[in-house]
Amino acid sequence: MSTSRKYLIAGNWKMNLNSAEGAELASQVVSMFGQQTDVSVCVCPTFTTLEAVSKVVNESNVQLGAQNMHYEASGAYTGEISAEMLRHLYCNFVILGHSERRQYFGETDETVNKKTLAALEANLKPIVCIGETLEEREAGKVSEVIKTQTEGALSGVTAAQAENLVIAYEPVWAIGTGKTATPEMAEEVHAEIRCLLAGLFDEDTAEKVRILYGGSMKPGNAAELLAQKNIDGGLIGGASLKANDFGGIVEAAV
Ligand code: PGA
Repeated sequence: MSTSRKYLIAGNWKMNLNSAEGAELASQVVSMFGQQTDVSVCVCPTFTTLEAVSKVVNESNVQLGAQNMHYEASGAYTGEISAEMLRHLYCNFVILGHSERRQYFGETDETVNKKTLAALEANLKPIVCIGETLEEREAGKVSEVIKTQTEGALSGVTAAQAENLVIAYEPVWAIGTGKTATPEMAEEVHAEIRCLLAGLFDEDTAEKVRILYGGSMKPGNAAELLAQKNIDGGLIGGASLKANDFGGIVEAAV
């Protein structure tokens, strides 16, 4: 990773842990990394667990993120949560366009784009997820998919706003499967994403955007992934649910 970017290790808890369980895990993370300043550490609980975790991480350096949001500010959108509501709970980050949301809840590049713009407008840092399926990789379409998803998600984002942007490259075939992209495979795509960002904004801005890798990242493979020039952290699913595993990945970034 370049010295101008600080690693970000974000735990995506997905639909796991009620508020008591989440507060317990968060307090373990705070006891390990509450004073950490070299690496940004973030936990992303479910909506119902956000408030309890917010109270635990409050006044520590561990940051809070949500897993989704709606792009409208308020109104008749039953079951939805706005950026402002997340800010009210002291969220700093929001994961957007995770492949599970694209696959199971019909999210498209267009909705991810609306959410990205709304998050940036509300001073939330979006972690925009992109990545190809196994079929797309086997068909030689990785670059095409990455370009379409990146440009689609970032349409209308200004260079100034992009400094608060995080991209997560998560090959769909590596999520929760135990199959990790090799560091070289991941780096190749990360470098391509940075090139796309330079085209959309400019070289300087592209250098500032953190690009995370996600997909079966664990303490055992984190160091070699994080050693790649364009890998600036990780979006961690399964391994973020155990304090020791998550801690091992953060340690690999320190
Ligand atoms: P995983 O999930 O680490 O369990 O593969 C990553 C993610 O989906 O963000």
